[in-house]
Amino acid sequence: MYTSAVYLNSPIWAQNALLGARGWLRASLREGAAFKRELEEVNQTQWLDPDSLAKLQLARLQRTVSHAQAHVPFYREHFKAAGFDARELKSLADVSKIPMMAKRDAHLAGRLMTSEIHKGPRFHANTSGTTGMAMTAWRDLHSINRENAFVWRQMMWAGMKLGDRRAWIRGDKVVPAAQKEAPFWRHNRGEQMLMLSSYHLSEVTADGYIEALESFDPAVCLAYPSAVLLMARHLIAKGRKYKGRSLTGFMTSSETITDEQQRLVMEAFGVRMFDWYGCCERMTAIGTCEYGRYHVMSDYSYTELLRQDDGSHEVVGTSFDNMLMPWVRYRLGDEIVPADPGLKCDCGRHFPVISHLVGRVDDYVLAPDGRQVNMMSNVLDNIPHLLEGQVRQDKPNELTLVLALPEGAPLDEAEAIRTVHEYIGSDMAVRIERVASVPRTGNGKLRVVVRTI
Ligand SMILES: [Zn+2]
Repeated sequence: MYTSAVYLNSPIWAQNALLGARGWLRASLREGAAFKRELEEVNQTQWLDPDSLAKLQLARLQRTVSHAQAHVPFYREHFKAAGFDARELKSLADVSKIPMMAKRDAHLAGRLMTSEIHKGPRFHANTSGTTGMAMTAWRDLHSINRENAFVWRQMMWAGMKLGDRRAWIRGDKVVPAAQKEAPFWRHNRGEQMLMLSSYHLSEVTADGYIEALESFDPAVCLAYPSAVLLMARHLIAKGRKYKGRSLTGFMTSSETITDEQQRLVMEAFGVRMFDWYGCCERMTAIGTCEYGRYHVMSDYSYTELLRQDDGSHEVVGTSFDNMLMPWVRYRLGDEIVPADPGLKCDCGRHFPVISHLVGRVDDYVLAPDGRQVNMMSNVLDNIPHLLEGQVRQDKPNELTLVLALPEGAPLDEAEAIRTVHEYIGSDMAVRIERVASVPRTGNGKLRVVVRTI
């Protein structure tokens, strides 16, 4: 809609009205009676004891796997080739008998991944191109309602109540790219939501964004971490704190968050970022609770963390809810570090705790000696005054730090280079490039680590 000629050529009041009308439609589709039933259910299943959770998981796994075998051509062949039959799945221990699949399998299978007996509406989403393998994920209405219920449940962990105002600073192009003057936000009255453009947020425009949030006063703001951080650093540099009274938390996703970044956001806004980690295929979801711990949502899907030879853990997931296009033991390619299995979280939920998300397996840089070095975003935490940064690798022996700092802010280049060397070794050449803002990907995300070789 945002790129339609009608929207782009309308005055701001009309864009607000169009967004509001679309918001009413979305709200009635996504937040109707079916959604409310699902929300009630997931608000109960979060408190299940370990035995009841395991029973729920087995029942839903059996439903997905038997449906996949009976009605989805890809799985019928895939299971047969591996000598697996859905009736063998009698306990959670039997899951290891089911053959795994990779993104390439789904890519090649195309429409053979979808159910032959599906009736009713279908919705599609294109998976991001980080692996260079484009693919369409199809979803049924039940899966949309379930997803929305899980997102709402986490917004409730962050302090949101049904009917509260929320703000949104993500990759939606609500404001035409060519617009140079504020307001860089639009009001979607249908969903009581202020939608701010992540593309126009910069050191120069940050004051206006913060004031717009203070005056709209949302309970929860859904945002890219990079957008929250830019505003937090801006507030701290100005020596002031956020003045909105209702804000209880940010809900973030899509980018890696460090402890230092959480500290900055707490200092500036007085609330934390509640992070959500999911994927387009919706076969895993991990989110932070009120106590700041990452939990695998055991009632969302069946997530396995499979130990690799090098001691890391890869995410493999089976979806529970989308019968139109189910995912069975799908290797996501992301890496996650589980916490000590005995660790119980003070929130009281029995969902497994994750120590940290390493992120996309391909979000690493290569050291000259061939090592894969993850978590390079840490080097940016130690650069004073930094607004945004990116670690970029275009050559085997060279890294570029792409840094956005306020005009005239000092930068200790030798110190920044020394920090990189601490992480990766001193035989890596380091170049520093100062920019006004770090270029975004096509959907407006800030990728902290980019490797083009
Ligand atoms: Zn917890």
